[in-house]
Amino acid sequence: MQLLQVNDLCKRYGAGEARVDALKGVSFSVQRGEFVAIVGPSGSGKSTLLHILGGVDRPTSGRVVIDGTDLYQLDESALAIFRRRQIGLIYQFYNLIPVLTVKENMALPLLLDGRRVDEGRMRQLSETLGLRERMKHLPGQLSGGQQQRVSIGRALMASPALVLADEPTGNLDSKNSAQILQLLQTFHRENGQTLIVITHDESIALQADRIIAIEDGQIARDEVIRR
Ligand code: ADP
Ligand code: ADP
Repeated sequence: MQLLQVNDLCKRYGAGEARVDALKGVSFSVQRGEFVAIVGPSGSGKSTLLHILGGVDRPTSGRVVIDGTDLYQLDESALAIFRRRQIGLIYQFYNLIPVLTVKENMALPLLLDGRRVDEGRMRQLSETLGLRERMKHLPGQLSGGQQQRVSIGRALMASPALVLADEPTGNLDSKNSAQILQLLQTFHRENGQTLIVITHDESIALQADRIIAIEDGQIARDEVIRR
C-alpha cells in the first residue's frame, strides 16, 4: 500500500542572478514498509528533498501526500501537528536539546503535542537502543553514537508513519555507523517502519530495498535492489 506520493516537486532558492533551482520536477512514490536510500553528489538537492518530505521546508511547487494528507495544503499549525505525529526526523548532527535529559529529548515531540508519554514504549525503545542506563544523562555526556541512538528514539517515540534520516552515520566512525544501520534495519524489518535515508555510505545504500539517485535536482536513477 502506498504511503508517500511526491508529484513534480520544484524548489527554487533566491531570485535573479542568485537563483538556485535545487529541485526540478521530482516525482516518485513509496510503499508502506519500504526502506529507500537517497544518494547523489553534494549539492544535488537531497537535503532539500528530505526537508520538503518532512514538512520543514515548503516546495516552490508540487505536491507531497503522506498517508492521504496533502502536506502543503495544511496551515502552519496543522502541518506542525502532522509532522510531530507522522514524521520522525534524524539528522547528521543529532539536533538534541543540550539542557534536556535523554528521556526528555525522546519525549519532546509528544510533550510539544500535549500528548501523554507511553512509559512502556519509552522503556522498550531505550532497551532496544541500548540507552537504559543513560536515560538521565544529558546529551553532552554521551558519545556521538549514543547521541544518534537518542535521536532515533526521539524520531520513533510517537510511532510515526515515516522516518526520514539525513546522513545519520555521517559523523560517526565505522563501528558506530554499523550499529546505527543495524538499529534502523531492526525497526524496518521487525516493525515494518518506512524509512527514507540520505547517505553517502555505500554499505547503507546497499542495505535498502531501493536506491533513488538524485543529480542536479532530478531523479537520475530509481532502482529496486535484488537479493
Ligand atoms: P545536497 O543535500 O544534495 O547536498 P542540498 O539540498 O543541500 O543538496 O542543496 C541543493 C542546492 O540548493 C545547492 O546548490 C545548495 O547550495 C542550494 N541550497 C540549499 N539550501 C539553500 C538555501 N537555504 N538557500 C539557498 N540555496 C540553498
Ligand atoms: P548537506 O551537505 O548535508 O546537504 P549542507 O551543508 O548542504 O548539508 O546544508 C546544510 C544546511 O544549510 C541545510 O539546512 C541547507 O538548507 C542549508 N544550505 C545549504 N546551502 C545553502 C546556501 N547556499 N545558502 C543557504 N543555506 C544553505
